Amino acid sequence: MSGQSRFDALMAVNKRPPIAMVEGHGSWLTDENGKRYLDFVQGWAVNSLGHSPAVVAEAVASQAKRLLNVGPAFWTQPLVDLATLIAGDRPLNRVFFTNCGAEANEGAIKLVRKWGGLHRRGAHEIITMIHSFHGRTLATMSASGKAGWDTIFEPKVPGFVKVPMNDIAAVERAVTDRTAAVMLELVQGEGGVNPADESFVKDLRRLADDKGILLVVDEVQTGMGRTGKLFAYEHFGVTPDIMTLGKGIAGGVPLGALVARDAICCFEPGDQGGTFNGNALATAAGAAVFRVVSDPSFLAEVTRTGAYLAERLGALGKEHGGFVRGRGLLLALVLGSDRANDANAIVARAFDQGVLLNAPRPNVLRFMPALNVSRAEVDRMIETLGPLLAV
Ligand SMILES: *Cc1c(COP(=O)(O)O)cnc(C)c1O
Repeated sequence: MSGQSRFDALMAVNKRPPIAMVEGHGSWLTDENGKRYLDFVQGWAVNSLGHSPAVVAEAVASQAKRLLNVGPAFWTQPLVDLATLIAGDRPLNRVFFTNCGAEANEGAIKLVRKWGGLHRRGAHEIITMIHSFHGRTLATMSASGKAGWDTIFEPKVPGFVKVPMNDIAAVERAVTDRTAAVMLELVQGEGGVNPADESFVKDLRRLADDKGILLVVDEVQTGMGRTGKLFAYEHFGVTPDIMTLGKGIAGGVPLGALVARDAICCFEPGDQGGTFNGNALATAAGAAVFRVVSDPSFLAEVTRTGAYLAERLGALGKEHGGFVRGRGLLLALVLGSDRANDANAIVARAFDQGVLLNAPRPNVLRFMPALNVSRAEVDRMIETLGPLLAV
């Protein structure tokens, strides 16, 4: 990277426009020049209640004045509160908090390996899906089925076997004495918004029970109301053994969680931890978000808004030869064959016109707005997108 920009002190890990964002409220973001953007990315499905929602700002401000962090040696009230909220009377009732989604998945991998060591004669392999995304640490990159990742940062962490999603026969063939778990996203987010089939997930649960292996769902993107249920697994009528959370869990404050059935929790003191894990600030934000998004009427509205967005995108798709897929407010417009490489160009033009969209693949536009996005904001985004598809 050649020099001479005020951004040069940063490692160039991402292509970013040469502007800084300064403020955000709800679905609107403002840059340093005062230009406003209608945000249908929201920090990659992170700002579940939009930019700087009052409930999170207040929870963070009041917790910051009282107690930020005591380290892993003590409990705090926000830590206990959020764990208790997530556990509820649900089957996945033991929580370990992390600082991000990748770290939650690292924890899941460690828990599976320890469990396999104790209960499946040392089995440690995890079957994962092609096009999956589980994070950017070495183990989670190794677990991911993202194209091109199999050859970088070698040597990888061994022990991950990749199969195509929605192909139960391929999973069955991949199970051996070394297998300890199957791990998947219920809607692959980074892979292009690819939903898992209901029958596939049910078959996975049956297979896991038959073979005595664990079912792990990575709900970092799909969890906390994004798909219209609190957790996406609730759509499938199955219960996983392990679930990971992140992204929207604390509405923009860094937080993740590893959640598991009590019966398979085999970590002992010293096995897992981290300096900042479960700190009072992040868990206070998480508790504030949880109280909003777990309300059945809030979730019902996510479903309705998602259906409205899907309908409007579907109409555009019909006009221009594409189609919609996804669940709740994690949706994609798959472009028609004549626009198969245009998603990035459309994102760039939408940005110029003040609308933030995302293209996880060259032919896919992804929509992950705030869960409380309004219909007027959906209409506004569609008004910008429509003409861009026509060109
Ligand atoms: C974003 C994401 C991750 C990684 O989370 P980070 O917070 O970026 O570490 C893992 N899994 C899924 C499904 C994700 O969408």
